[in-house]
Amino acid sequence: MPEAEAPATTTIEIEDMITVGTLAERLSIPVSRLIGELMKNGVMATVNERIDFDTAQIIVGELDLGLTLVKRTAAEDAVTKRAKPVNSAKAVVRPPVVAVMGHVDHGKTSLLDAIRGADVVKGEAGGITQHISAYQIDHNGRAITFLDTPGHEAFAAIREHGAMLTDIVIIVVAADDGVKPQTVEAIRFARKAGVKILVAANKMDKEGADVNRLKQQLTEHDLLTEEWGGDTIVLPVSAKTKDGIPELLDMILLVTDVEELKADIYVPASGLVIEAHVEQGRGPVGTALIEAGVLKPGQFIVAGGAYAKVRNLETTDGKPLQQAGPSTPVVITGFKTLPEFGDEFIAVYNEKAARQQSVDTASDRQASGGHVDIGSSELIRLINRDNKLQELNIIVKADVQGSLTSVIDSLKAMDTEEVSVRIVGSGVGPIGENDLHLAHSSGAIVYGFNVSLPTSGRQQAGRDKISVRLYKVIYELIDDVKEELGKLLSPEIVETELGRLVVKGIFNTTKTAIICGGEVTKGKLVAPALAKVFRGDEQLAEVEVTGLKRGPAEAKEIVAGEMCGMSLKTTKKLELEEGDRIELFTREAIQRQL
Ligand code: GDP
Repeated sequence: MPEAEAPATTTIEIEDMITVGTLAERLSIPVSRLIGELMKNGVMATVNERIDFDTAQIIVGELDLGLTLVKRTAAEDAVTKRAKPVNSAKAVVRPPVVAVMGHVDHGKTSLLDAIRGADVVKGEAGGITQHISAYQIDHNGRAITFLDTPGHEAFAAIREHGAMLTDIVIIVVAADDGVKPQTVEAIRFARKAGVKILVAANKMDKEGADVNRLKQQLTEHDLLTEEWGGDTIVLPVSAKTKDGIPELLDMILLVTDVEELKADIYVPASGLVIEAHVEQGRGPVGTALIEAGVLKPGQFIVAGGAYAKVRNLETTDGKPLQQAGPSTPVVITGFKTLPEFGDEFIAVYNEKAARQQSVDTASDRQASGGHVDIGSSELIRLINRDNKLQELNIIVKADVQGSLTSVIDSLKAMDTEEVSVRIVGSGVGPIGENDLHLAHSSGAIVYGFNVSLPTSGRQQAGRDKISVRLYKVIYELIDDVKEELGKLLSPEIVETELGRLVVKGIFNTTKTAIICGGEVTKGKLVAPALAKVFRGDEQLAEVEVTGLKRGPAEAKEIVAGEMCGMSLKTTKKLELEEGDRIELFTREAIQRQL
């Protein structure tokens, strides 16, 4: 299987259409910066909205990142879509990710348990295996990651997120039963996904197991084994007796070596949520597969509409991890709300970015009605609690106890229902090494009132990127905290209606554009602008108005009472009808003040 062609350092390949979130990730910039730049250019797009290649190219030019975008062709796409773009100079070898698929009762679960059991038994004699969504084993000193795919449909849904997920699919076929409908489906699926296929002829211990008959059947589905002139590998195994399992694992590593699987580690950690649930005492817990970068406890991650400060990072069998690199399945606690299966996650540089991105995604999902929260009362409680209060961690040092007390009292008085100051440390005297350590681990800002920061501390703060702010006037210090608290408030989205048009005729409709005409019944129409399309009370779509015409001539604005032509850009095919109402509006994100 050919490996993804590594792009040159200054060239980034992207698809024809790409979501804002994915583009920001590829450019390694905060998504808010990208959204801001898009806004400046009149494109109102949220993190999950797709923009086309031309728009992306213009925006990247404006951002002046020293990067060039190139369009990935469809043919390249088929081969490279599995892998995150890899910067070959810095990429490291990663373990393979293996999924097991096949017909019901052919032994997928048993095989996964046997493989994991082999490993567990070695470590902890007679260990009981518990079924989990993903795990990593060690075979001959090398790691292999196994994924349990909860049904092909869900697996396909994950893949739609454009994420690399599996490198190798093991198709399990009971050798006494042979190829069955779901085997064929699994073969078709693995082919389409462009992954390497290994066939495990399972239940070889059973009477009636016939590997030759199986090979024969596989040829009917274009999986030719070596003796039939092809390269499909069929390995006889028994999940029951564990015969053949070491050979299967050897083969996985052999295929891995041929594939030269690599991933970048000097990029923000990113990957995919493959399982999520609420655990008593631990809150929302997510299992994720890391695809690139290195995840560590204390980092902020955003996964769809949820975000977390990673509290515990663990293996899927509960061992704590200090860090986890590509292809590692991990359990993450610290989510404020429950992430969703299939969400991509990415590490962002601070809580504000994490929260903002997650809020954007959640509100998009709510607007599109696509995702419904399946919340237990515990979850709802957690969500409410976390939605209500955002905390600003700070450390206060002052010259004398009196001024320290008055600073702290003033800060405490600033708490609101939504935001509050959390003083993680305070004391009298200069800002010392311990204060900076504490600030680093808690993500706090250090405020000094009438105290100094010694040179050594300045170096430490610079190195660990700790914000230290020194003040001699108390209300200036308070104002600064107030400003920081204000940043924690979620921005208010304000929409202002510009004008309305009632559709009188539709002249052309394609998948992504409509040309129509009508009468302006209210306000003033301008282009470009955003618009909502209504039929009666029902909103059909949100679209973009790309142009206006008065008679044959382009017009910048049309006022109430006039007739005009209108060009619309749509994200999906929209069957406009006479009498539909188009309401033009502007949308702004306004940072609220405390
Ligand atoms: P899945 O539906 O593909 O996950 O299949 P399971 O792992 O649940 O297995 C279905 C049945 O086949 C169970 O009763 C297993 O005990 C049995 N089974 C699985 N693998 C083997 C094997 O290698 N030999 C024998 N004799 N039985 C097996």
